[in-house]
Amino acid sequence: MNSAIKIQLLRNLLDEISTRYDYLYDINRQMLEETQYAASHDPLTGLVNRAVFEENLARALSVVKRHGGHTAVLFMDLDNFKQVNDTIGHDEGDRLLCDVASSVTANIRKEDVFARFGGDEFVLLIERITSNVDQAITVVSDLCQKILACAKHTYHVSGNTFFVSGSIGVVLFGSNSTASVEELIRHADVAMYEAKKKGKDQVVFFDDAIKARLEEQIVIEQKIRDAIKNDTFILHYQPKLSQHGVIMGVEALVRIQDPEGDLICPNQYIPLCEKRNLISIVSEKVLIEVCKTLKAWEKNPLLSTMDISININPAWLRHPTFVEKIEEILRHSGANLSRLIFEITESIELVDIHVKIAIMEKFTALGVRFALDDFGTGRSSLVYLSQLPVYEIKIDHSFIVHWDEYVTEIENEKCHRFVKATIAMAKSLGLKVTIEGVESTKVSHALWEMGCDTIQGVLYASPMNQKMIETLIYTHNN
Ligand code: C2E
Ligand code: MG
Ligand code: MG
Repeated sequence: MNSAIKIQLLRNLLDEISTRYDYLYDINRQMLEETQYAASHDPLTGLVNRAVFEENLARALSVVKRHGGHTAVLFMDLDNFKQVNDTIGHDEGDRLLCDVASSVTANIRKEDVFARFGGDEFVLLIERITSNVDQAITVVSDLCQKILACAKHTYHVSGNTFFVSGSIGVVLFGSNSTASVEELIRHADVAMYEAKKKGKDQVVFFDDAIKARLEEQIVIEQKIRDAIKNDTFILHYQPKLSQHGVIMGVEALVRIQDPEGDLICPNQYIPLCEKRNLISIVSEKVLIEVCKTLKAWEKNPLLSTMDISININPAWLRHPTFVEKIEEILRHSGANLSRLIFEITESIELVDIHVKIAIMEKFTALGVRFALDDFGTGRSSLVYLSQLPVYEIKIDHSFIVHWDEYVTEIENEKCHRFVKATIAMAKSLGLKVTIEGVESTKVSHALWEMGCDTIQGVLYASPMNQKMIETLIYTHNN
């Protein structure tokens, strides 16, 4: 082989190596880019994820501290998103999330950082807003309205219409902010919850009042954790009386015994227990305690006729896994379960109603009865009444609260009619009716006339400890 051919062959070989190298390099780079993209983006919507958002927020925080002006974090959660997933399906849920992501993106600047934190939570970072606070609030409020418009969707399913909207929490901060990245996100999240509480489809700015409530929540959460650790939950019992003044049963109501001797009432901490997934622990403690009381009362002829109602954790009806645990507690207690009533709040969701009915029937087979608590405050009273295996309804205190006053006559008239019609309907279905929160004789007279079975309220007795309720039952029912 002459040297010219050798050189040519060598050149060809080098070209070949170079082409393959380029090809491998491209593949490698592409893979690297893909991995980086996957690690920083939400696969469904293509928005950046929480990690990227937090990095940008940390940078924005130092920029605003150095250069002034304002920066805002907007935290949006969709309202009724679960309903889309549950009634139409996850594909439609995904479509909705992508739709919201792209329409919001079209309404913001390229440099704004828009992220999806997962589920139906979207978070937006807006920088370089004017240093004038009032103007900054106006700018952000206007933008929020545009975003709320992007979140609005209407669905028609089997003749029903429901709406999806957004709730936005905003934290606006300037150069004097002392909050950390985590705190800023938490503050925007808390403000978003306030927007939900206020009725959804609205915007709430994080302010001092919310901050104070947040601090209060932190204190209460600590008290709940201490009470769990030190077992300082105590039960009070409130009687339900018949028209003849006989105590027919009691409702167990849980309190925390504060080390200072104060009692903390459930409205202050049950919602927080639910939010922090502590409600199962509390509810199981209550159930075990109530079973002990039932067992102790069985030995006494007067006390053994008492029904005891407890407010149950809604999750007991949601997860079949809970059922076994609760059944175990009930069986293990050896108590007479035909004296036990589980109160479920009427506001529990109707989703998977057949699962709920099946679970309720399991408990019913053990002798436990069910009451629908806070009746009238949920949205689906009639559906509940016709489908769920319930024994009793407890009409909410809010329907009778103004009967003594005359300020809201029309409202009162409506409430009167509602209570009267509900009692009549319940009677025709063979259900017992209890009215809660009765505080005056005038109201009790009206209720007895309407045909309710039992009344619970401070007119007769406030919730009290076990010893006191036992004494009250002896004196009343003897
Ligand atoms: P609920 O089950 O509807 O209980 C009735 C509430 O009305 C009780 O408040 C009771 O003290 C209060 N009440 C009694 N008489 C009157 C009256 O004449 N007027 C007024 N305005 N109120 C009256 P409490 O004990 O603060 O409990 C509040 C709610 O906390 C309960 O409402 C129930 O939903 C929940 N809860 C209580 N104990 C438990 C529990 O062990 N587990 C769970 N999951 N929730 C509980
Ligand atoms: Mg109750
Ligand atoms: Mg109630």
